[in-house]
Amino acid sequence: MSRVYNFSAGPSMLPEEVLKKAASEMLDYEGSGQSVMEMSHRSKVFDKIIKDAEALLRELMNIPDNYKVLFLQGGASAQFSAIPLNFMNGSGKADYIITGQWANKAYQEACKYGEARIVASSKDKTFSYIPKTKREDFDPEADYAYICMNNTIYGTVYHELPDTGDVPLIADISSCFLSEPLDVTKFAMVYGGAQKNVAPAGLVIAIIREDMLGKQRDITPTMMNYKVQADNDSLYNTPPCYTIYICKLVLEWIKSLGGLEKMKERNEKKAKILYDFLDSSKMFRGTVVPEDRSLMNVPFVTDSDELNAKFIKEAEAQGFVNLKGHRTVGGMRASIYNAMPIEGVEKLVAFMKKFEEENA
Ligand SMILES: *Cc1c(COP(=O)(O)O)cnc(C)c1O
Repeated sequence: MSRVYNFSAGPSMLPEEVLKKAASEMLDYEGSGQSVMEMSHRSKVFDKIIKDAEALLRELMNIPDNYKVLFLQGGASAQFSAIPLNFMNGSGKADYIITGQWANKAYQEACKYGEARIVASSKDKTFSYIPKTKREDFDPEADYAYICMNNTIYGTVYHELPDTGDVPLIADISSCFLSEPLDVTKFAMVYGGAQKNVAPAGLVIAIIREDMLGKQRDITPTMMNYKVQADNDSLYNTPPCYTIYICKLVLEWIKSLGGLEKMKERNEKKAKILYDFLDSSKMFRGTVVPEDRSLMNVPFVTDSDELNAKFIKEAEAQGFVNLKGHRTVGGMRASIYNAMPIEGVEKLVAFMKKFEEENA
């Protein structure tokens, strides 16, 4: 068996230890005589899995008791609609910062339900930076302010949160979930699709401050009503049981490595190897301003489309897969989530050096 280094933006690599554990428990989960895939979501065995997953997440992220943890479906994209449906019901206004495609999609959904407003955008430079905002830029009447914390496609991240004053802040953390410590108390809600850093596809985790619940519009579909999901402990209907189980294994893996401080250290080390090389290379360069660079998604280019294509092809033959950049940026993108081992990045950089020498 030979496994590749998968630099996909998502679905992405899972820790090998997690895959092995899941394989070993595939036919008989802890003496139940069944796979987690087969068991009732109302069974005692599964109840323990989902409760353990929540407890581990609360421990690792230091989530206060006045926040609910919800396990949802529909992808991050379904939350683009669920967020206005649940919260845009006071003034009917909401403020959005557009830092890329995902924030823009969220904004477009909100426009269907109320007065969504663009506070700032970095579209003028292909989203290669995080726009600066001041407290006065936000409408004090807005029901919430919305950001995408880590921009998967463009490779930028908020190192410092915008000051929104008393306006509740909501963040999409899909591509930086569990990559480093996060002060949940700064947010009214954070949420993310699991398929980047937490589990296979099919699961969204939302962490919502309790006072935000119950504000939904009457037309809100029951499945998108966060209050209903919270009141039913995420078991209003059948949840994605197997994905929640893998999520639990990933959380155990993170805990075994020392928690989110340790993840941050590891991720900084990995990203530095790649960024240092990009800054010294004459052929490759990063596309993001240095102060807003993401630890998770690293877009880079050469000056030639031909060379980019040659690089992607040769890299793939060497077992470095999914390095093609998003079509709106071009070039390459290496997504180096938690599960990417340091050797994966070291070997990629060694390959890039060799490619640069051979093609200079
Ligand atoms: C991948 C991604 C999404 C979309 O997730 P789906 O689960 O496919 O809907 C949204 N936001 C961010 C930041 C992402 O990286």
